[in-house]
Amino acid sequence: MQGGALLEKLIAGRWIAGVSTGDAIAAAKEFNRHGISGIINYLGEEISSEDEVESTVKKYISIIDTISSTHTSADISLKLSQLGQNIDESLARRSYKKILSHASSRKVFVWLDMETYDKVEDTINIFLDIERKGKSGICIQSYLKRSASDIKRLSEYGAIVRLVKGAYTAPYDIAYSSRELTTKNYYALMDYLFRNSHKFTIATHDKDITLKALRLNKWYRRDITHAMLKGIHNQYAVELAKGGENVSIYIPFGEKWKEYAFRRISEGSNMHLVINSLFENQKI
Ligand SMILES: Cc1cc2nc3c(=O)[nH]c(=O)nc-3n(C[C@H](O)[C@H](O)[C@H](O)COP(=O)(O)OP(=O)(O)OC[C@H]3O[C@@H](n4cnc5c(N)ncnc54)[C@H](O)[C@@H]3O)c2cc1C
Repeated sequence: MQGGALLEKLIAGRWIAGVSTGDAIAAAKEFNRHGISGIINYLGEEISSEDEVESTVKKYISIIDTISSTHTSADISLKLSQLGQNIDESLARRSYKKILSHASSRKVFVWLDMETYDKVEDTINIFLDIERKGKSGICIQSYLKRSASDIKRLSEYGAIVRLVKGAYTAPYDIAYSSRELTTKNYYALMDYLFRNSHKFTIATHDKDITLKALRLNKWYRRDITHAMLKGIHNQYAVELAKGGENVSIYIPFGEKWKEYAFRRISEGSNMHLVINSLFENQKI
């Protein structure tokens, strides 16, 4: 095998559960054994045909059924661009509604991933129009300057937020220009959530943030979950779960794994992060 192909395979195995629903469920079950829940994501974004949207909806419905029939502790997380947001907003709304209604009948929680900055307003509007209280949640990114007001709006509504730094870039007038400023804003948004929201998810591998969240929660006693991506600092996730914390791992799977793997690589501020994550304690 060529070096590039070998690295590709290593990365895929570490960060992606595999190509089938069975692979994703097996990965979630493995985390469940450590007291950790899964967040299953079927890879694929920027879908451009109605047929593809239809088959994605069917796929999510069958994932929900499998989570339920196998008694797996797992949510699902999806992107509106998988549901036709770039083709026709009403198609995305209908598709999301269908998945959400099926998921709530099977008691499976649904997360909306957040994508590029130009989709944020529509994503929040669609979420708030269709959300069924307590049955779904939405991701908010600290790299965007608008997120303070978005979190306020969502908290006032009682929505469940998953706070991340953000995996995309945006023009300097709407986004924080450095990792330091994005992290500083993360702390500010997290602080707001502790003061104003009862249930939310701190999704990060930044241990300083996690430690601060643990300290704050001794005082606020909120229903918080710590979430990480499959393959990054998962041993730390196990330790948190052992200590009694709610922990979830985001588990992507599907045929379109290459785009995801390369996004993860380009995010690592340099190659040694990626290599470290590959050779981190591999017990899980
Ligand atoms: C559960 C979950 C759901 C997410 N959902 C979304 C979403 O819907 N939309 C969105 O835009 N983003 C999403 N993200 C990604 C997120 O925005 C960040 O890009 C990602 O989590 C890295 O930021 P960080 O908070 O871990 O902090 P960073 O400061 O980037 O990293 C902190 C430490 O984590 C480790 N680390 C981080 N990234 C890597 C990497 N690629 N390889 C190896 N080690 C690494 C390193 O040790 C680093 O020092 C999600 C992340 C998680 C955990």
